[in-house]
Amino acid sequence: MEAVLAQPRGFCAGVARAIEIAERALATYGAPVYVFHEIVHNKHVVDDLAARGAVFVDDIDAVPRGALTIFSAHGVATAIVDRARERGLRVIDATCPLVTKVHLQAQRFSQRGHVIVVIGHAGHEEVEGTRGSVDGEVHVVGSVEEIAALPMQAGTPVAYVTQTTLSIDDTRVLIEALESRYPDIVGPGLDDICYATLNRQRAVRSLVKHVDLVLVVGSQNSSNANRLQEVAADHGVPARLLETADDLDAAWLAGVRRIGVTAGASTPEHLVQGVISRLRDLGVGQVRELPGLAETTRFRLPEMLRASA
Ligand code: SF4
Repeated sequence: MEAVLAQPRGFCAGVARAIEIAERALATYGAPVYVFHEIVHNKHVVDDLAARGAVFVDDIDAVPRGALTIFSAHGVATAIVDRARERGLRVIDATCPLVTKVHLQAQRFSQRGHVIVVIGHAGHEEVEGTRGSVDGEVHVVGSVEEIAALPMQAGTPVAYVTQTTLSIDDTRVLIEALESRYPDIVGPGLDDICYATLNRQRAVRSLVKHVDLVLVVGSQNSSNANRLQEVAADHGVPARLLETADDLDAAWLAGVRRIGVTAGASTPEHLVQGVISRLRDLGVGQVRELPGLAETTRFRLPEMLRASA
């Protein structure tokens, strides 16, 4: 058997920045550092930071008054920012700048009088943050059926934005459905889907031409990792999402000669290497990496941590 690695895979610039923020906050200010929501959607990253003194909370009121608090890479609603201020929390914002860009875009459309439609998965932290960053009317849709059920009449000024980690193909279909219902709708097209999501999905499209099975290393709650699994399956190649090498079931490899491996944007590379090592134990001889884009995007740290960098 042979393993073929997708390139690029794993950490994006927004995830690398968020983890560095948490690590530097712990090193500079000491434990405990509170983190509102999982800093990124990866259990190992979260467990590792928790072992070093990060305290993860899903309720901002669970943070003691005045404590140092990090907002996760997925961004937060304005009400959370306001509540943190009311309680005197010292906040370091690890929201990915590409998510902040979507918030600002939605706010601008709303201030110009548009009803906002957020294309994305309701309940996902990023989508709830985007929804909650808009003062005016806002709706979240994730399917053509939900678009058909939107309450706005034709002629209403409507604008859309999208979650950053969606499937390009699915999003295109939803934008077309919105445009057909609201011909004057305005929005960014596919431009809110971030570079890292695009690059990893393109790499999987290229990977599926070479393999019989795709393993996506990532957490179950990682949106972009789930989309990578779907992209492979949509192109006719079975795909499995696994958190670590321990989840790899040898039965998946029955009749398989070439195994593709990729990883979601919040997956550390050492988990990928753990999967490769397990594949070697199960009979994989050759491991090669497909050529792909070398990403150079980096985001600046927040002011409060720049000196320590
Ligand atoms: S997946 Fe994209 S939007 Fe999300 S943190 Fe990474 S770069 Fe930012």
